[in-house]
Amino acid sequence: MYRPLHRPALSVVVPCYNEAACLDLLHARISAAARAAVGDDHEIVFINDGSRDDSWAAMQQLAETDPRLVAINLSRNHGHQLALTAGLDLCAGDQILIIDADLQDPPELLADMRRTMAAQGADVVYAVRRRREGETLFKKATAAAFYRVLDRVTDTPIPLDTGDFRLMSRRALDALLSLPEQARFIRGMVAWIGFRQVPFPYDRAERHAGETNYPLGKMIRLAFDAVTGFSTAPLRFASHVGLALTAVSLLLIVYIAIGWLSGTAVQGWTSTMLVTVVLGAVQMFVLGMIGEYLGRLYIESKRRPLYIVADVAGPIQGHATLGF
Ligand code: UDP
Ligand code: MG
Repeated sequence: MYRPLHRPALSVVVPCYNEAACLDLLHARISAAARAAVGDDHEIVFINDGSRDDSWAAMQQLAETDPRLVAINLSRNHGHQLALTAGLDLCAGDQILIIDADLQDPPELLADMRRTMAAQGADVVYAVRRRREGETLFKKATAAAFYRVLDRVTDTPIPLDTGDFRLMSRRALDALLSLPEQARFIRGMVAWIGFRQVPFPYDRAERHAGETNYPLGKMIRLAFDAVTGFSTAPLRFASHVGLALTAVSLLLIVYIAIGWLSGTAVQGWTSTMLVTVVLGAVQMFVLGMIGEYLGRLYIESKRRPLYIVADVAGPIQGHATLGF
């Protein structure tokens, strides 16, 4: 595991993809907000996620003027969630602010978020979008629908209308980083780790420059990662359909039997219907059983930690793995 030489009071982690036009202002605003909050004892981590514009050059230039800026260049575009993971892996701070590069999330909210964290004794303060400026009706509608569907199908309650903009404690981040899965839906994973998490309502601003890097295709992929990462409901679907079909087929069998007994059934209809109905139900049921096993295999294969310890009171010996 990465062990920093110095643990600054605050790390601000920013994944960037084609954000050259935002970087100067972004850096100035984050710098000012961080300085107001913790003075010089902070770091800003920019991750260049394989941008095709001048983002990397701009970051390097900024890093020359600001010793508190760490710029990281990924080998190619790995996608928002993985770029963010790279930054979270490498940052060293005691508190961690995750923020978008396009200034849709105002860095100036940092002070209030820290106050909320301290006042409520929280480990995570997540920003909830009250309003979204300058986004298309389509984006707003699909986003709203997405968070609600997600909430229905997942077993982990994931806060509605919440992006990755959030303030975290070091222990919450370390817990998050102990989840090794490949398909990462970070806001869901943060919800999964537990600890005290409190909402922080804000109005989402318009993009400062450039355009969204989340076109429909990427949004759909994120939605799939979210649903499949936190729910085996789609796999369980077959067993539910199988059960329903079995119930329906029992009724149908009665109906078919009546037709046969009363002699109104056409020759061959009874046997054909019986085979169709019973086989349909049995197949669905077996598919559902396979789904149940597959779902469990899938959950096992993620190799998530079984639990996360928040605190210990009293002596505890020989448990170095707990990290105390
Ligand atoms: N981003 C990234 N890699 C990508 C796409 C996006 O690092 O492949 C970053 C982007 O620079 C921004 C954040 O992820 O800081 C959110 O992206 P964007 O603002 O385009 O999404 P939207 O706000 O439109 O949902
Ligand atoms: Mg944005």
